[in-house]
Amino acid sequence: MRVAGILLKSKIILIIFFITFSYSKEKVTLQLKWFHQFQFAGYYVAKEKGYYDDVDLDVEIKQRDLKYNNIQQVINNEAQYGVADSALLLNKIKDEPVVIVAAIFQHSPNVLITLKSSDINSPYDLDNKDILTYANNTDSFAIYAMFKKLGIKPNFIEKKDPYDYMKLINHEVSVTPAYLSNEPFYLKEKNIPINIINPRNYGFDLYGDMLFTNENEAINHPRRVEKFKEATLKGWEYALKHKEEVVQLIYNKYNNNKSIEHLRFEANSIEDMIDEKSIPLGTIDKGRLKYISDLYKDYGLFNNGFDIKDFIFEEFKNNLNLTKEELVYIKNKKEITYCIDPNWMPFEEILDSKHTGITLDYFKIFEKKIGIPLKLVPTSSWPESLFYVENRKCDIISLLAETPKRKEFLDFTNSYIQSPLVIVTRNDELFISEIPDISNLKNKQIGIVKDYAYIDILKKKYPNINIYEVKNVEDGLNKVKNKELYGFIDTLTTVSYVIQNKFISQLKISGKIDENWNLGIGTRNDEPLLHNIFNKAINTLTFEDKQLIFNKWIPINIGNFTDYKVIALWVLGTIFIFGIILYVFISANMKLNKEIKKREEIEKRLLSFNKLIDDHIISSSTDLKGYITDVSNAFCKISKYSREELIGKNQNIVRHPDMKSEVYKDLWKTIGENKIWDGELKDKAKDGSAYWIYTTISPKYDEFNNKIGYISIKQDITDKKIIEEISIKDGLTNIYNQRYFSDFSLKFLNSSKRNKQHISFVILDIDYFKQYNDTYGHQEGDNALRKVANTLKEFSLRSDDYCFRLGGEEFGILFKSENKDRALHFVFMILKSIEKLEIEHKNSKVSQYITVSMGLYSDYANNIIDVDDMYRKADKLLYSAKESGRNRVVSN
Ligand code: GH3
Ligand code: MG
Ligand code: MG
Repeated sequence: MRVAGILLKSKIILIIFFITFSYSKEKVTLQLKWFHQFQFAGYYVAKEKGYYDDVDLDVEIKQRDLKYNNIQQVINNEAQYGVADSALLLNKIKDEPVVIVAAIFQHSPNVLITLKSSDINSPYDLDNKDILTYANNTDSFAIYAMFKKLGIKPNFIEKKDPYDYMKLINHEVSVTPAYLSNEPFYLKEKNIPINIINPRNYGFDLYGDMLFTNENEAINHPRRVEKFKEATLKGWEYALKHKEEVVQLIYNKYNNNKSIEHLRFEANSIEDMIDEKSIPLGTIDKGRLKYISDLYKDYGLFNNGFDIKDFIFEEFKNNLNLTKEELVYIKNKKEITYCIDPNWMPFEEILDSKHTGITLDYFKIFEKKIGIPLKLVPTSSWPESLFYVENRKCDIISLLAETPKRKEFLDFTNSYIQSPLVIVTRNDELFISEIPDISNLKNKQIGIVKDYAYIDILKKKYPNINIYEVKNVEDGLNKVKNKELYGFIDTLTTVSYVIQNKFISQLKISGKIDENWNLGIGTRNDEPLLHNIFNKAINTLTFEDKQLIFNKWIPINIGNFTDYKVIALWVLGTIFIFGIILYVFISANMKLNKEIKKREEIEKRLLSFNKLIDDHIISSSTDLKGYITDVSNAFCKISKYSREELIGKNQNIVRHPDMKSEVYKDLWKTIGENKIWDGELKDKAKDGSAYWIYTTISPKYDEFNNKIGYISIKQDITDKKIIEEISIKDGLTNIYNQRYFSDFSLKFLNSSKRNKQHISFVILDIDYFKQYNDTYGHQEGDNALRKVANTLKEFSLRSDDYCFRLGGEEFGILFKSENKDRALHFVFMILKSIEKLEIEHKNSKVSQYITVSMGLYSDYANNIIDVDDMYRKADKLLYSAKESGRNRVVSN
């Protein structure tokens, strides 16, 4: 029963875990360089058509706020992506961390216009003429460069404003800079013919809008950058094919300041800038960038050069920072040969003379990073692979652990794969001796693949173990199945893969032998540069690289029951062991009361378990009041206290303040009635850190059957709880997320219905938060969200109060209330406390500080149809609160 219960719990945890994996979208911001218009069509399409969604990105597209420098906003990571033109090179030259992702406009739309009637139609006509320009104008750089090259000297007057084309019409100036997709439209509309002087025709062809990111994003989220780029280009592709549809979209949804006609005009000229017919969309040409940077140099904008390599994302991604010596080595080497274990799935395998498995995916990345081919030298067994690399028939070996013997001919890189070592036995072998303490396997035959590193290590650590060398994993597992061997040892990754595919109902993982097994690449030690190069390749692997490969090869999803079973089996294995010990403990304790005569004998038996239990089972005994009388070694280890520090202290020395007191009340009530209590507790270690234990507490009796205290036996469930918490908490504010609300509210409502309780649900939404972000930046916005969430948390300390982040700047609190008035009073205090945080919000129309509006719905649970009903009602009330002036509660 208990095992089933725990299993059920872990199943739920797993499910929550995988839901997080499959549904969480990554939030990023794109900062535009101007206001919403066709210039950014591809981005809107990518968002509206779900191209960003498809690659799990949640993209916020922000139009320009003229108060800020849009490039600087990306550099400061207020936005992760931005749009900028060739002026971006100037940032790069200043060593600012910008990285180009894709060039969208192959040509710049910055030109000069004159009236046709003026007869000025080439730059040569402009010597000594007045030209208005913006101060510090980098946009018009191509124009300056053109004049310089041609030796023409107009009078630049830094006094431009957006309506200068009017001055042209009124003959106040004879030439004005313009954006091809913009001003010419107004003149066309007025039927005034113009000349366009385009620097491009004089050899000054710069990139127009480029998509760029910052180094932080390029280094830490390269996969995300690729996804963003891919979806964006797809968006542009669509926008160019369906200009009219996109014009309507922009007009109706983004900005209607420009007329439909104007947007159409813009669309056509943007199409020319993108020039997709002659250059594939997004292309960045290193040669052209160099040409542009040389232009800047000629113009005297800077003297120092920069490395184009870490300016372009595609290059940046693969940049290993190799030394000259290493580069020369690679150049001369031409290809690197390698051997693998031909039979070690999912890590690796040779199928039809080809390499497959996890290491192949890594090797593809390494190949790209290093820049020369990595070539497999096929072998038929692991010992043969080792022989080959020792005799230099291949340069490296893909995945192995370091041993002294191997050190004689190999150098070892850092590890890039870790997996715990486990022991596999038949399903029907469930004895105490299976506790993951390998010394218990003394007289049993244990299989390990021949020449595997852990043979040496295990032999050294456990001289009594009886090792039998098998050919490969499958051979070993077959021998276990046929009872030729008692158990088989390999990594968790490998055995779960093979069991799942071939031995699902016969074998199980019954214990963990060692901590993580670290596996890296072995490189021939007579060519030491190989070691440096591969270490650099491994060190620049990102978390995303690893996660992608992991997810591909360790596919555990809810839909696939078999996969889940493997994990369940693993969980079941450890829990079973735990259960047995618990049983021995409790039954021995009971026997102690009933069969006093046998007491000594039983005590002896307990004693022989003692060391085992002491080291592996977290347990403690207390007196009737909860003062500790004994603790196990394992308890000391997890709580970080010594035995002396614990004995005599109250058990609540390890109680974590996060635990609600109701849990403890229930605990004391249960054991007070001489029943066994079990449940999950969060504890606090000596250093303040937290850990979670699944605890079973039972009463303890003396020989006269008097209750003298309690024994508690615990299992460390910290890892499971961490996963659980990650999946139900919002990353930014650390309160429950929307997903958890969906799960939890249903249970909450149902249990309140059963108990005929009065409940309340309030939705609150920050007032004018968009303006807050626009005024203070996204970062400050995030901080404000955290502060508001903290206030909610402080108010939700009672055991029946639960607060959630329901989305963006919207929160919810679900709580039990005596009546409507009490509920209203409670949420009103929260409303006031948020304003009292005094988070400055100068552009709010209701207060100088951040405020919220609230919709409160209170009723007897039985009057509420379902969660949707409750939500809809609260949301409607929130809407009235907004409508009637904000910074207030409206309740039913
Ligand atoms: P109202 O008073 O009507 O509620 O106006 P509002 O501006 O608060 O409402 P609106 O729904 O128009 O805008 C919500 C804004 O919240 C949009 C977005 O910029 C911001 N926002 C949403 N999620 C986050 C986040 O995680 N961080 C930050 N900084 N801002 C966010
Ligand atoms: Mg909102
Ligand atoms: Mg709002």
